[in-house]
Amino acid sequence: MWSVSNPSPNGPASHPDLQATRIVVLGGGPGGYEAALVARRLGADVTVVEQEGLGGAAVLTDVVPSKTLIAAAEWMSSTERAPALGIRLGGTPGSDAPAASVDLAAVNQRVLALAAAQSADIRARLEREGVRVVLGAGRLDGPRRVVVPAGPGAGEREQTFDADAVLVAVGATPRELPTAVPDGERILTWKQLYNLQTLPEKLVVVGSGVTGAEFAGAYRALGAEVTLVSSRDRVLPGEDADAAELLENVFTARGMEVLSRSRAEAAERTADGVRVTLADGRVVEGSHVLVAVGAVPATAGIGLEEAGVALTPSGHVVVDKVSRTSARGVYAAGDCTGVLPLASVAAMQGRIAVHHVLGDAVHPLNLQTVAANIFTAPEIATVGKSEAALRASGSKYVTATLPLARNPRAKMLGMRDGFVKLFAHPEAHVVLGGVIVSPRASELIFPVTLAVAHRLTVDDVAEAFTVYPSLSGSIAEVARMLHQPLD
Ligand SMILES: Cc1cc2nc3c(=O)[nH]c(=O)nc-3n(C[C@H](O)[C@H](O)[C@H](O)COP(=O)(O)OP(=O)(O)OC[C@H]3O[C@@H](n4cnc5c(N)ncnc54)[C@H](O)[C@@H]3O)c2cc1C
Repeated sequence: MWSVSNPSPNGPASHPDLQATRIVVLGGGPGGYEAALVARRLGADVTVVEQEGLGGAAVLTDVVPSKTLIAAAEWMSSTERAPALGIRLGGTPGSDAPAASVDLAAVNQRVLALAAAQSADIRARLEREGVRVVLGAGRLDGPRRVVVPAGPGAGEREQTFDADAVLVAVGATPRELPTAVPDGERILTWKQLYNLQTLPEKLVVVGSGVTGAEFAGAYRALGAEVTLVSSRDRVLPGEDADAAELLENVFTARGMEVLSRSRAEAAERTADGVRVTLADGRVVEGSHVLVAVGAVPATAGIGLEEAGVALTPSGHVVVDKVSRTSARGVYAAGDCTGVLPLASVAAMQGRIAVHHVLGDAVHPLNLQTVAANIFTAPEIATVGKSEAALRASGSKYVTATLPLARNPRAKMLGMRDGFVKLFAHPEAHVVLGGVIVSPRASELIFPVTLAVAHRLTVDDVAEAFTVYPSLSGSIAEVARMLHQPLD
């Protein structure tokens, strides 16, 4: 058994004592490994316990694989613009042969290799920095002890790690419907998609949140027939309504079938495919079904409640803005907290936790400046206050929108679908938030993030030079539309 006594159990250590501060991190995803690196840099003794692979679901099954797959889909989508640019792709003029086709086995091989390599890099980096990496499924034994039972990969004997602080960053797993149990072949979670060797003839995607929309768009671009089953009025409920409407129109124009207000109740295998039954009795047939109906926190059975850690009814760990749980010495970060399921937020929560544990300067989590992106084609990037939040809180705001089709660079590039929208305070003129719908919106949103984070006014943004011609020129142009002349 590996065990250490606990020299400083009473909260934050002052700087000279940091060597003595032992932090055990449960879960090696972005919530865990980023925190581990920061804690090591600050001199703490750090152990990361991880049951699958370093980098977590973010690297192995979620962010990295999906965005790598989407890179292939994006290449296919960009070929749509070829005729407008005067480029003829594929076979002979007038032939119906597809411009390009996808070797899904090769795409998925690249996806999995890239994810595995990134996971290995993260493990190597942690070890190089002096973080103790322990493979195995850990659980809390009280608030300041983590136990890793013996098991495959975890060693022959149970290991015990005493800690001054434990950071719980165990993430979440796909929510499964009892009436649509994944079989890994035809009824799939997003983690199982990368085993496909050939493109599904017809993929039924259940769930039109971010994950469902990203995969539906990607598989359509790769050449599959796709039906997107959405229980809500439109795709991407909760996102900017104009962006969601635009995306749904683009999906439909690309030949995707979008079934709104259609709750899927069950999915079962047929002789050569799947049958999805909707709540109103309709049946959707396909070759495969992807069930993307959210995630559940991986917090069950790991000793949290016994250690005094309060959970919500959904099983998420309750945390404050410096990642403290209800149990002294136990912190939590990432998807298991349900605060905002993004890798960037998980990493920030984890870093905040270790700064707090180690008595370093702490900036409480501020979600007002989180930039997020939906990797569809076009992408949808957002930052700051949404229009729905501004309306719901009764805040005063002004807004302006410029369609991408009016941007000179977009015209040259043959891009049509998208817009730039900003929200600003009508008196202080401060930029409150923004939405960019465009190819590579994830890259374009940064100036708006800077404006929101640093409380810049629309005039500050409007007066900065942009390259001519450039897509970012639209951001300055929208800021100019919001300029208020002096009285
Ligand atoms: C398809 C998909 C695409 C996404 N794309 C993006 C994106 O583009 N950008 C973005 O910011 N976010 C994206 N997300 C969200 C992002 O994946 C999560 O927010 C992020 O992974 C959360 O990090 P985490 O550290 O909390 O959890 P995870 O990354 O899930 O890591 C948790 C780790 O804990 C381990 N673990 C669990 N229980 C134990 C235990 N008892 N003992 C030891 N180890 C344990 C797990 O094995 C796992 O490795 C996406 C999510 C999905 C589903």
